[in-house]
Amino acid sequence: MTSHAIVIGGGIGGLAAALALHRIGWHATVLERAPELREIGAGMSQAPNALRALDELGVGKQARAVGVPTYATGNLRTPDGRYLQRARPGDPTPLLGFHRADLHRVLLEAIPPGWVRPGAEVTAVRQEEETVTVRCGHDELSAGLVIAADGIRSTARRLLWPDAPPPRFLGRTAWLGIAETPDMPGSMTLGPGGYFLIHPVAGDRAYWAYVTSADQPGLRYDSAEKAELLKHVGDWHDPIPALIGATAPGTVIRIDIHDLDPLPTYVNGRVVLLGDAAHAMSPDRGQGAGQSLEDAVVLAAALAGEPTIDGALRRYDAERRPRTQATAMGARQDGARSTSKGAYRLMTPMLRLVPAPLWRKGISRDGNSTWRWRPPRLT
Ligand SMILES: Cc1cc2nc3c(=O)[nH]c(=O)nc-3n(C[C@H](O)[C@H](O)[C@H](O)COP(=O)(O)OP(=O)(O)OC[C@H]3O[C@@H](n4cnc5c(N)ncnc54)[C@H](O)[C@@H]3O)c2cc1C
Repeated sequence: MTSHAIVIGGGIGGLAAALALHRIGWHATVLERAPELREIGAGMSQAPNALRALDELGVGKQARAVGVPTYATGNLRTPDGRYLQRARPGDPTPLLGFHRADLHRVLLEAIPPGWVRPGAEVTAVRQEEETVTVRCGHDELSAGLVIAADGIRSTARRLLWPDAPPPRFLGRTAWLGIAETPDMPGSMTLGPGGYFLIHPVAGDRAYWAYVTSADQPGLRYDSAEKAELLKHVGDWHDPIPALIGATAPGTVIRIDIHDLDPLPTYVNGRVVLLGDAAHAMSPDRGQGAGQSLEDAVVLAAALAGEPTIDGALRRYDAERRPRTQATAMGARQDGARSTSKGAYRLMTPMLRLVPAPLWRKGISRDGNSTWRWRPPRLT
């Protein structure tokens, strides 16, 4: 069996794939189109399933060192500041908040030097028997396996899955930012038509995000994004307006939420889709990057365990498609609910009535079926 793969994309999914291959004794070349390898964006949370995948990748300790426990799902609030559910000090919380750049760096630092090539955009993919050749500038590179981890607008998916529909706009948009502020416990505030999430991240900072409905993608206010956002949440409880105020001007990020309809397969010959390229999902379950970490571990375990690459890819596809597509469809529905005014009016009183112990159990390490996932062993 060949033991060299080309990975397209140096985001969290692509780096996790390269690291997983390293763990099973393969070699990888990671081609990243950005001139410099760094994760842009703000923050994220990682749940126990993702943390277990990081453990299996051998970087669980390093990741936990830059992750901060967050009570986001334990502190549910309404815009006037009242608590629908409230975490008690010292309650265990299974979620960690991360600055994206910190998690990306942990993965990058564990990859052997020389494996990652920034400034390398893949523009064509050709398959012949058991070899895949990718074009990248004036160069052509070949390997027995190509892992396409090139994100929601994947070039490999466009070229090799020509019938796959383009990303679907979900009628939602998000503002995101990072503010310098210590001791933020994490919370989620449900409002009529949108929700505001806060996660603490390393370095006495907090990541915040406001997700709301939008009629169309692409509407931008450039330097006035903060002012626009404050029109939605400027009168919400502390520290929401203060956090937005403390975010450096020009660093507020605006993302229109898209996902992918389920693909019939993640495998085409010796090209396999991983991460957002395969199953980009709405952020409402905080699982997109976590699922890409799981993908990486499962793919490497299949490559190590099956006698042929084709058999390994079949196993990967059979294991990963049902789980990732169910998670994506669940996130699509959660997002539609959490930005609907009708659902807000209906759900808020119900959430207040859920007994606290039951709520705590639901958000505990094993209370959530997605979080219970256990990785296969790589070593
Ligand atoms: C608002 C928001 C909040 C989120 N919150 C969370 C969260 O809390 N927890 C969580 O787990 N997930 C979260 N996600 C999802 C998460 O961001 C993604 O699932 C994850 O980043 C996907 O990683 P990836 O490596 O698959 O893709 P990407 O991060 O998109 O990386 C793809 C890489 O490929 C490169 N590339 C693209 N095309 C080419 C090419 N042709 N040649 C070479 N390189 C190429 C790109 O430059 C990029 O570096 C959130 C997403 C959003 C939008």
